[in-house]
Amino acid sequence: MESLKPTYFLFLLITFSACKSTAQWEGQGPIQVVETKDQTISYQTKQTWDAGNGVFFSNQLEGARLNGVQRINDTLVQVTILPENEPINPSPWYAFKLWSGNTQEFWIEFSYAGKGFHRYFPKLSSDGKTFSNADSSNFFQPKDEKGRPEKAFLKVNASADTLWVAAQDKIGTAHVQEWKEMLLQKDFVEVISIGKSKEGRPLEILKIGEANDQEMLMVISMQHPPELTGFLAMQAFVEEIIKDTPQAKKFRSKYNLYLMPQMNPDGVAKGHWRHNVGGIDLNRDWVNFNQPETKTLAYFMTNKMKESGGKFVFAADFHSTWEDIFYTNNEELDGNFPGLIPKVIKKSSKRIPGYVPNIRPNEGKERGVTSNSYFFFVHQAESMTFEVGDNTPRDIIKMKGSYLGQELMKILNKKKCK
Ligand SMILES: [Zn+2]
Repeated sequence: MESLKPTYFLFLLITFSACKSTAQWEGQGPIQVVETKDQTISYQTKQTWDAGNGVFFSNQLEGARLNGVQRINDTLVQVTILPENEPINPSPWYAFKLWSGNTQEFWIEFSYAGKGFHRYFPKLSSDGKTFSNADSSNFFQPKDEKGRPEKAFLKVNASADTLWVAAQDKIGTAHVQEWKEMLLQKDFVEVISIGKSKEGRPLEILKIGEANDQEMLMVISMQHPPELTGFLAMQAFVEEIIKDTPQAKKFRSKYNLYLMPQMNPDGVAKGHWRHNVGGIDLNRDWVNFNQPETKTLAYFMTNKMKESGGKFVFAADFHSTWEDIFYTNNEELDGNFPGLIPKVIKKSSKRIPGYVPNIRPNEGKERGVTSNSYFFFVHQAESMTFEVGDNTPRDIIKMKGSYLGQELMKILNKKKCK
């Protein structure tokens, strides 16, 4: 830490004890902008394939991704999975269903036509709603010389009963809607429509709390369609906030949490690898605001502040990657509640035996193109991106999300004045 002049300490002391405003940094420097104007995407042809031997494959369901089916031999069918457009980050989502006139075992070969490597361990479902991991003895992924799985093989047992195969435990947007409806049963939760996606799906925020909007929180997830594990952590986090505990009640009387659980509904519905239907990575559009999903949320936040005269003290964006990582802002820069994020992460992580969180503070001091940067540099909200591992056990995800919620409320409830 740099040495600070005594007058600066005095300034900090006065600022914190008055709880009116917090120390600000100066000179953000130039913003690195990424092009986010619409790109052309290729749409899947929705269809059912006759794969021979009485076997059928279909992508005729919301959230599906399946671009081609080809029988290789009696016991092997190749499926081709392609991205919506390129360049694109390696996040090859797949989801489809299959059935067979006669019960039979055969292998499915996942092929990405050189555009990606297999990433998601297959999940299976017999009702399209509840998924569980395929038996590991029925799955293998040969690696190339650099250790990357160019293809993968899954043995399935097909019958007249439909079998769903997907990259994660949920497909499509319906489960999000169901969860939102559950939250809306609470009388302190209301829905705010902020606009529509390019395909006309509602862009909705839930307001959770009964406070006066002087201190607010913003939580978002699923900018990137396949990132369900981030969504699951966000769910556990939010489910703490809505509880009937004295802690949660107190929290809701002091703070309103604004939640956009599904930032990219079109991308989810289309089974995209990463982008919205404008062919854009939404998490690169928080400076340009060329896409409706980012533009409407930014408008909502700015307007909310103007209208209420309040401020956002905390913001979180939940994602998924190979392992659990917290991306935070430069710890030398202060927002509306200096030190909040490291404290919340450390306190919640400590409760999980043996868990040492991987925290990566941004070393830069300039605004970037991501949500995390927007929340911090524009709104001075203490913000973090929580990337949850693709394969982190679901009970651990739940624990991490819940503890984050509990510790955040504990710290914010202790805050002396507004
Ligand atoms: Zn992401």
